Amino acid sequence: MGELRLNGKVAAITGGGSGIGREVALLFRQNGASVALLDRDLEKLNQVKEEIGAGTEVFCVDITDEADVQAAFSKIKAAFGKVDILVNCAGIFAPGTATETDFAQWKKIMAVNLDGAFLCSKYAAAAMLAAQNGGAIINIASEAGLAAIGGQVAYNVSKAAMISLSQCMAVDYALDHIRVNCVCPGRVLTPLVQHIIDTAENPAETLRELSSDRPVMRMGNPLDIAYACLHFADDSMPYATGAVLSVDGGYTAR
Ligand code: NAD
Repeated sequence: MGELRLNGKVAAITGGGSGIGREVALLFRQNGASVALLDRDLEKLNQVKEEIGAGTEVFCVDITDEADVQAAFSKIKAAFGKVDILVNCAGIFAPGTATETDFAQWKKIMAVNLDGAFLCSKYAAAAMLAAQNGGAIINIASEAGLAAIGGQVAYNVSKAAMISLSQCMAVDYALDHIRVNCVCPGRVLTPLVQHIIDTAENPAETLRELSSDRPVMRMGNPLDIAYACLHFADDSMPYATGAVLSVDGGYTAR
């Protein structure tokens, strides 16, 4: 085995039951971290726990519920003694222009993508401050937070706000050595995207479209994003805070 880049660290990963969050959990564990997986889907959590084996605890929480989030971070402290890294990866998507988006849908997307990231960051940062040993928070936003992708206004705005949340917290906690960085993935073939394909009118055409709208002419894979998280999580880039990293096959470079 190569160098263990996260040896001895404790990482909390939201959305750890599926897609990008699952891949981050596997990569971080391979690199020596203990991982706390937070997700609302217990079945998926248990599958990932079984895949990873020792050094994992799962927490079935709804990240939009403050009491749930607060309790989860107390339990993480009890189980592992500390939290060094938080990856905010839980998120939901729904399409719609402003006139197509009812207010309840808007609030639901904001609740998971933005409020959930805020709540987890708040309780993780509080634990990091109390331990006085710094930390790393990584927010998984999206290319949709940087570019106004048509027909998905609530999602885009939630991700743009997540970028701002990262920058604000980076500034506020810079002297506490809590680095807060943001990864903006392009389209990644995960259950979230598979669902968009499966529910499209013409799934084959949608798959083709979703694979060919960027310079590299392919979708990303979860490991592309997990490695970006690893770079922000380990101690190799201590000067990087408030950074916004596109990992999108060149989509936002045009
Ligand atoms: P996914 O649907 O495979 O996984 C998301 C996970 O979040 C699920 O396990 C789900 O149960 C969990 N979750 C949702 N709401 C929750 C809640 N209220 N409380 C706790 N857990 C909750 O999605 P993915 O494709 O792996 O996406 C992960 C993140 O990456 C999301 O924030 C998404 O917006 C972002 N992203 C994805 C893509 C992509 O193309 N897949 C592109 C850019 C950004």
